Amino acid sequence: MTVFEAAVCPFCACLCDDIVVQVEENEIKDVRNACALGMRKLLSYKENRLETPLVRGEARGYEDALKEAIEILKGADKPLIYGLSSTGCGAQTVALRLARRLGGVCDSTESLCHNLFHTLQPEFNLFYTTLDDVKDKADVVVFWGCNPVHSHPRHLSKFSYSEGRFIPKGITDREIVCVDVVTSELDKIAKWFLRIRPGKDAAVCRALQALVGGGAAMKSVKALAEEAGVGVEDLSRVAETLKNASFGVIFYGLGVAASENARDGVAALFSLVETLNETTNFAIFPMKGHFNVVGAVMTFLRETGFPFGVDFSGGVARFEPGKTTALDVLESCDAALIVGADPLASFPKEKAKLLRKMPLIVLDPFETLTVEAATVAIPTALTGVEAEETAYRMDCLPLKLEKLVEGNMPSDMEVLLRLQDNIEKA
Ligand code: SF4
Repeated sequence: MTVFEAAVCPFCACLCDDIVVQVEENEIKDVRNACALGMRKLLSYKENRLETPLVRGEARGYEDALKEAIEILKGADKPLIYGLSSTGCGAQTVALRLARRLGGVCDSTESLCHNLFHTLQPEFNLFYTTLDDVKDKADVVVFWGCNPVHSHPRHLSKFSYSEGRFIPKGITDREIVCVDVVTSELDKIAKWFLRIRPGKDAAVCRALQALVGGGAAMKSVKALAEEAGVGVEDLSRVAETLKNASFGVIFYGLGVAASENARDGVAALFSLVETLNETTNFAIFPMKGHFNVVGAVMTFLRETGFPFGVDFSGGVARFEPGKTTALDVLESCDAALIVGADPLASFPKEKAKLLRKMPLIVLDPFETLTVEAATVAIPTALTGVEAEETAYRMDCLPLKLEKLVEGNMPSDMEVLLRLQDNIEKA
């Protein structure tokens, strides 16, 4: 029996690194410290697996499938390589280099989720912090358009609700504020819960900004409150809480970043944080979902200087959201290589149709909608369970994912290296 005392959970971007995993005869027998999501991923890793390579739906050997994939990539003028948020940094690096070699486009799921964080952030004076600093110092924690109880279940107990070095009594030393369009479990622990109208995040931010900045024109605060469907009294109390923080943090999720008026909402949130920083200390954090979406951003930045959506078709790396991300280039691409993502399930319907039309190579440990439609599907090892890799936590902390059991599939990186080698030899 082998016991991993501090394994990293490869499910969400919290990357909890205190997971105890007991392995017996190459099977995961017991998992401790993980939440229900992590527990399920680690204990049920054998379910719904893609068992064999497929070429046009027919079972084939690895060599045959690789050969077909190489032919598709070599024959493409502008292939798209997409996904990458549920794999390790080694695989991400090879995927990017392959896209560069092929003169294609490389993009991660970040372009559909927290893309605005990267495109708007340079316009504002914001500072970043670590989750450990949040745990140790944050006396005001705001969850805006997100609910970690469901998406990142241990975020609260590990970082945002628990005792920290300068927050010895945990929740009694912290004030939790929530802003969302629906009430949630957070209502029970939050000091203030503002339930707002959908798409009205910017109105709430502007009202709070006016109240926090002082000298607020009550007329405009009233109009903004009315627009957002909240009371002025409630807004004033939240503004007081924010103003009185010695160190505050706003975690925001896709409730803002993928809402109608997302650009307006995220920009207003950044502007509110800037105003708060005139009198106190506030950090802002996008709540990243996939376990290594942050690693994808770091890898893209290191390799190209851009955070996602890089087009190499002109001979140099080009990044222009609206022109170079996966959703922008589907019409001009003539093949796609999908790594650890299920875009046919997550892309808007019209975009999914475009993707379906081109030769599709998919590397995935599981049976998915995209695997079903693939020209070539290649099963791979499950990263962080059957393959060792590196991933970045949502606050950019790199962590090593262990190989917990021996699998019988190659890792994403091994398959990508085979593709790269063959294309380089051509
Ligand atoms: S919070 Fe996320 S990383 Fe932590 S155990 Fe749960 S799923 Fe895994």
